Amino acid sequence: MAQHEKLVIVGSGPAGYTAALYAARANLSPLLFEGLQPGGQLTITSEVENYPGFPEGVLGPELMEQMKKQAERFGTRFVLGDVTRVDLSGRPFRIWQEDQLYTADAVIVATGASAKWLGIPTEKTYQGKGVSACATCDGFFFRGVEVAVVGGGDTAVEEATFLTKYASKVYLVHRRGELRASKIMQERARKNPKIELLWNAAVDEILGDGKAVTGVRLRSTKDGSKRDLPLKGVFMGIGHEPNTAIFKGQLRMNEVGYLEVQAPSTRTSVEGVFAAGDVSDPTYRQAVSAAGTGCMAAIDAERWLAEKGIH
Ligand code: FAD
Ligand code: NAP
Repeated sequence: MAQHEKLVIVGSGPAGYTAALYAARANLSPLLFEGLQPGGQLTITSEVENYPGFPEGVLGPELMEQMKKQAERFGTRFVLGDVTRVDLSGRPFRIWQEDQLYTADAVIVATGASAKWLGIPTEKTYQGKGVSACATCDGFFFRGVEVAVVGGGDTAVEEATFLTKYASKVYLVHRRGELRASKIMQERARKNPKIELLWNAAVDEILGDGKAVTGVRLRSTKDGSKRDLPLKGVFMGIGHEPNTAIFKGQLRMNEVGYLEVQAPSTRTSVEGVFAAGDVSDPTYRQAVSAAGTGCMAAIDAERWLAEKGIH
């Protein structure tokens, strides 16, 4: 038996919870799927210092707990776990979690994006203890120390350039002898006296004392030789992946999988389906911008449902 809902929200990061708060206050009684990471990306960080309203900063998991409570207060209902399949080809839309089928008049997709990681075991050990995938978020904690950024694309160069505001030195560790980044970004990196490019180098291991990062073990991609580089922080700049696998072939995406929206709205290519947060944002990827577009998606959905006579 299918369970019918007016509005289903997929994802429980700042975008999903904010969409739920607005939709719940509009009496839509939304059903929100939290996914496998309830609270989203901010639950894997410590201090969040750039979310407005918290002059002393706030812990990521605590901020997300508060957002959830606020959405719950007005009647949002939550389901743990991932949506495993969707069919957006006709209305009502069909959404599955394993064998359980839900139908919905409108859907907000807020499944976020995941930073790409190297996949080496020590990277997990030191996440939040010197290993990060977000310079804008964590750069401030590396004042006056040496750090490395891994990658050779625009993200890596942008992160490295940003980090020179804080760090005494930034090593840009790239596996090849040539950057993938655009010419202008390459020029910026080369001109910056705080950035040192380490060519043909792969990070084999993150070194640490159990509490914090103390360095990286580099392997030459030319001759396989290894050397240790002492530093305090390692930033992954090897790209992000939007969590859009279940929407492939159903919602229009750009060439790397970000959902396309009809700016300045949150409307996707399918009428009645809206997208908010990192999943449709290859550019800003911040908690506050995700919350902002979550609000927009709820208002867009509410207006669209009202046009269809659903209140
Ligand atoms: P996310 O937070 O990515 O949440 C996505 C949600 O979708 C998750 O709940 C997940 O479980 C769910 N989901 C995914 N697939 C499915 C599915 N199939 N079914 C159901 N649910 C699904 N930004 C800042 O502004 N300040 C910071 O200090 C900051 N620090 C950061 C630190 C780290 C380590 C990282 C990784 C990011 C940081 N960011 C920071 C970026 C910020 O976390 C993101 O921009 C923001 O979380 C995006 O919110 P979102 O709601 O779009 O998605
Ligand atoms: P990208 O262009 O795909 O670059 C990823 C980089 O990481 C590449 O240099 C790649 O190396 C390296 N890499 C990938 N996997 C790796 C691994 N496992 N180990 C070591 N290195 C690895 O991704 P991006 O830099 O995130 O850029 C994505 C898109 O966003 C691009 O179109 C970019 O122009 C755009 N962007 C623009 C701006 C801007 O204009 N300000 C900023 C950020 C992003 P190889 O080169 O060897 O493949």
